[in-house]
Amino acid sequence: MATVVQKFGGTSVGDTAKIKRVAERIKRRMEAGDQVVTVVSAMGKSTDKLVDLANDITDDPDPREMDMLLTTGEQVTISLVVMALNELNVEAVSLTGWQAGIQTECTHGDARITDIDKSAVQDYLDEGKAVLVAGFQGISDEGNITTLGRGGSDTTAVALAAALGAESCSIFTDVTGVFTADPRYVKQARQMPSISYDEMLELANLGAGVLHPRAVEFAKNYSVPLIVASSMEEVEGTLVEEEPSMEKNLVVRGLAFEKDITKISIERLPNQYDTMAVIFKLLANEGINVDLIIQQTTSDHALNVSFSVDTDKLGRALEILEENKAELCYSMVRHQSMLSKVSIVGSGMISNPGVAADMFETLSEEEIEIMMVSTSEIGVSAVVPESDMIKAANALHSKFKLDAEELEKVEALSS
Ligand code: ADP
Ligand code: ASP
Ligand code: MG
Repeated sequence: MATVVQKFGGTSVGDTAKIKRVAERIKRRMEAGDQVVTVVSAMGKSTDKLVDLANDITDDPDPREMDMLLTTGEQVTISLVVMALNELNVEAVSLTGWQAGIQTECTHGDARITDIDKSAVQDYLDEGKAVLVAGFQGISDEGNITTLGRGGSDTTAVALAAALGAESCSIFTDVTGVFTADPRYVKQARQMPSISYDEMLELANLGAGVLHPRAVEFAKNYSVPLIVASSMEEVEGTLVEEEPSMEKNLVVRGLAFEKDITKISIERLPNQYDTMAVIFKLLANEGINVDLIIQQTTSDHALNVSFSVDTDKLGRALEILEENKAELCYSMVRHQSMLSKVSIVGSGMISNPGVAADMFETLSEEEIEIMMVSTSEIGVSAVVPESDMIKAANALHSKFKLDAEELEKVEALSS
């Protein structure tokens, strides 16, 4: 008897009719002879509504209390799915994160899973029950309820699959699989039959919201076959695996984009060995994640440093720089918001020079200003104005032959 883990996201459990459909799907899977663990998210947009409630009361909610609040969303769904299963004469049990043995770091809002004690889940499975686990939550060593970061139910599911040695982990969502780009914004995007863990991890880290990056990390580290598929239609999804055999001849496999990026520039810093270390230590100590960094020496040997941060961290970053102005000895700080990052990803890039050049050429043909650039072995990212993000994504999608009809030509060439 195989164990399978499946996860249904917010839209897929958005109302009671959808919850009943999820219950039917669980029942069918159990009738096929599998032990089934199901992770669910909060219904629809209910997590956003809980965030709004907190914001109505305070600008600075206590992180422990925020996690206590947000984890209630998933608790609503698990119990309703169990009730729906009971109506179908299926025995089932709901478990919160801590009841399911999900241990996390002692931080709030974005805690990592450190350990899973699978015994409770396994015992219920062995009793023949369907097990429903609340996604996105765990418990710290101090006994506090924690959350795993927005979108973190994916990670709950994959981590449970790894702990249980499950045959596979299916992420059921409102698209039929992983596409070459977010199909909401790139109409020519098409579904990929499979993608490697590394490419998926890069896409997820660069803003492809279809999977939580840490879920992909877990799947890769524990070799969990990960499937992204539709919760509505019974059609083939996308398999995330070690080395997919398909489409080897495509240099760029997909693209991702994200907005709400701000560029901060510090002008005329002293040109000393420790200048960069001091600035970025100060920011890191306050939990400010810096993404792209550019350093330039001026003709008279001063340093100019620019870096990008999520726009919601701008206020705190500026405060830190102001508080430390005397130590840092700079002349001025400037910042520019309303920026976005558009990235192309593909493992074929390692052996193909000129991919970045093609990307820049495409952006220049579209008259899109490139403000910062970064590269990895399998990705190139450009920071561009937010108003040009979708235009850039669509142009790059065509340029790298990801559009549906272009792909047919590439496949014909290679056959
Ligand atoms: P869930 O609530 O099921 O977790 P999410 O909204 O987190 O669903 O993720 C699904 C959404 O991810 C899709 O509706 C789609 O707009 C977006 N998305 C972003 N990038 C991609 C991509 N490359 N492939 C498919 N979907 C993507
Ligand atoms: N409910 C949480 C969120 O909206 C977690 C999740 O859906 O994965 O971010
Ligand atoms: Mg999600």
